[in-house]
Amino acid sequence: MILVLSNEMPDEERLELIKKMEEIGLRVHESQGERYRLLGLIGNTSTIDRNRLNAIRHIEKIIPVQESYKLANKAFHTKDSTIIDVKGNKIGGENIALIAGPCSVESEEQIVSIAKDIKKSGAKFLRGGAFKPRTSPYSFQGLGSEGLDLLKIAREETGLPIVSEIMSVRYIDEFAENVDIIQVGARNMQNFDLLKELGELKTPILLKRGLSSTIDELLMSAEYIMAGGNENVILCERGIRTFETQTRNTLDLSAIPVLKKHTHLPIIVDPSHAGGMWWLVEPLSKAAVAVGADGLIIEVHNDPENAKCDGQQSIVPERFDTLTKQLRKIAELDNRII
Ligand code: PEP
Ligand code: MN
Repeated sequence: MILVLSNEMPDEERLELIKKMEEIGLRVHESQGERYRLLGLIGNTSTIDRNRLNAIRHIEKIIPVQESYKLANKAFHTKDSTIIDVKGNKIGGENIALIAGPCSVESEEQIVSIAKDIKKSGAKFLRGGAFKPRTSPYSFQGLGSEGLDLLKIAREETGLPIVSEIMSVRYIDEFAENVDIIQVGARNMQNFDLLKELGELKTPILLKRGLSSTIDELLMSAEYIMAGGNENVILCERGIRTFETQTRNTLDLSAIPVLKKHTHLPIIVDPSHAGGMWWLVEPLSKAAVAVGADGLIIEVHNDPENAKCDGQQSIVPERFDTLTKQLRKIAELDNRII
């Protein structure tokens, strides 16, 4: 439930109201807008006496919220979209953020060279997997902590903030200390223990949609992180499992406008894991920007044929450069910036 309060409501009266709500077991989330203040009530609101609330002069409106996600819900916010600022690079609002880099960090030479190239083309963040969730235990599992160290070297050389995937609660401290955006992969979208721990941090979380998860399930996972106090969540559509076998996954383009309708959180698209082939990255990226995505996370490799992971879906830096130029034109149509 949301209480819309007039800005004229005296502080003591508002604090008293919050206290009463907390006494009946509700959590109260406040959001200040230009003309009014919102009190989002989280918990079992069925015990609230609506008549009493209606009698309070400064409550302008009482809005019931049916959805189970509250903090991620657009209705709980006075602003239409949340903008996440990472070292001056913004995700959300009119900004379209480009995150690029290899599936996995392989060597210093590889990651630094790719980082320099993507930066020249306009990428604002460097991605690179250090801990890899591979289907086979015999495949390359990533360089682990050494991979994070190499990402840090690339960050130092280019100034690009780094994005990397966490697979276990065991590494929370290491990631909190070293990584600018912590990625939760599709396979861990419903690892609720991990989500709860990430909720304790301030670091922005890039939450990928699970392989067979619904949009509501994705939002509930975001809610887990936000309920812990970390409201810096970036959602990511990366394709879902369908009966189609021609592509690695099916990119659910409608998820972007649907999510935009329900949540204020930024939504980015991963065309690489969606299509699973390098030649699909370009059309899927263009489509994602056209339907309103707040950014893209794209796999870029300087030697895809010898990549340790996902070379088939990685584009080379030259192609990434051409793609960004085309994406800028699409973004301009909507008065957005890359
Ligand atoms: C990745 O980004 O490297 C990755 C493994 O993605 P996903 O979790 O979407 O499969
Ligand atoms: Mn990959």
